[in-house]
Amino acid sequence: MTQPIAIDAHFDSGNIELLRQSGDTLTLAIHQDQDSDFFQWFHFRATGIAGRTITLRITNLEASAYPGGWPHYRACVSTDRRLWTRADTTYSAAEDGGTLTITYKAESNIAWFAYFTPYSMERHHDLIGEMAAQPGFAYRCLGHSLDGQSIDCLEVGEGPLEVWLYARQHPGESMAEWWMEGALEALADPANPHARLLRQRCRFHIVPNANPDGSVRGHLRTNAVGVNLNREWHEPSPERSPEVLAIRNAMDDTGVDFAMDVHGDEAIAAVFMAGFDGIPSLRPGQQAGYDRYIELLDRRTPDFQTRLGYPKAPAGKANLTMSTNQLAERFGAVAMTLEMPFKEHDPLPDTLQGWSAERSMRLGEDCIAALAEWVHDVPASA
Ligand code: ZN
Repeated sequence: MTQPIAIDAHFDSGNIELLRQSGDTLTLAIHQDQDSDFFQWFHFRATGIAGRTITLRITNLEASAYPGGWPHYRACVSTDRRLWTRADTTYSAAEDGGTLTITYKAESNIAWFAYFTPYSMERHHDLIGEMAAQPGFAYRCLGHSLDGQSIDCLEVGEGPLEVWLYARQHPGESMAEWWMEGALEALADPANPHARLLRQRCRFHIVPNANPDGSVRGHLRTNAVGVNLNREWHEPSPERSPEVLAIRNAMDDTGVDFAMDVHGDEAIAAVFMAGFDGIPSLRPGQQAGYDRYIELLDRRTPDFQTRLGYPKAPAGKANLTMSTNQLAERFGAVAMTLEMPFKEHDPLPDTLQGWSAERSMRLGEDCIAALAEWVHDVPASA
C-alpha cells in the first residue's frame, strides 16, 4: 500500500503552506513574517516519499524579501537532521510569480527541507547550558522578548577591552548561530592559545540569538510583532524591540571597544564584512582599527574575501538605526557586520553541502583567531 505524501511545518522554525498536490508534485508557499511583508525562510518535512522522486514547487517568490536570492540557490535537505546537503534546485522568475523547483529522489520515507541548516531553540539552550558550565564563563539574562523568551548572554575573560558578539537579529539567518557555536567552542577550549590571549586581554559579551521569537516562529527578518531589529538601534522600545533595548542597555553599562554583528546574506555568494562608513563622528584610529581586522581575517581564512560586498555609505549618510553604525557612533567602537552566504560559496565551492553549518562554525573559530592577532597589536592599556 502506498502511503500518501504529506507536508508538515508545525515545529520549531517551521514555515510552509501546501497549496496543492498533483501526484508527486507539490506546490507550496512561504508564510510572511507576522505583521510584516518579509518572507524567504522555509523549513518543512515531507513524509511518505520513499522510492519516489518528488518535485517541490515553492511559488510567489518574486514577492519575497530578496528575489535575487533564488537564482543559483540550492535548497538544503536532510534525512537525519544532522547532515544537511543541497538538493537539485532551479528557479524561474516567470512561473507562478517566481518558482523555486526542488527535485528530490527519496530513499528514506522522510526528509527535511530548509533555506539553510536550521539552528533550533533546543540546540540554543544546549549551547547556553554547556558554555555557562565552562570554567571562567558566566551566564547573564539581559532581558526578555515579546513572547517572554530570555535574551541570553555569555560572558568570559578578565581583560579591559570590551568585546560584544551578537547574532540572529534576523532569525532566518541560522548560519549566524552556527558561527556562534564555533566561536564559543574556540573561546572555551583550554588548548586554544588565541582564546587564552583574548581571555587575558578582553571581556567578552556574547549573545548567540538576539531574536528567539522570530527563530521559533520561522521568520526571516523580524520579531513577534514584525519589527526588523536591525533598524531599531537608535531608539529601541519595550513595545517594539525589547530585545535590542536589553542588549543596548547592557552595552551602555560596559562600553564597547569591538563589536561583531553576525548575519547571512541571501544574494551574494561569498563571505564579506560591512563596516560603519559615513558615521558622523569618526574617531581617530577607528577606521584603521576596522581595516586592520579585515586584513587579518582576509589573511587568516580563504573563506573570507573583500571583492564582493555592499556599497559604502557616503560621508555623513550612515544609517544609525543599524547596530554596527550605532555602536561605532555611540561608543567609538570598531564595529562590523559579518555576512555569510545562503547560496554556494563561489570562491571555494562544495558541491555536496554548499556553504554549511560546518563552514560557518569554522569561520567563527577563524574570526576569533583573527581577533587575537588584532588584540595582540593593541596596547595593553587600551
Ligand atoms: Zn541579516
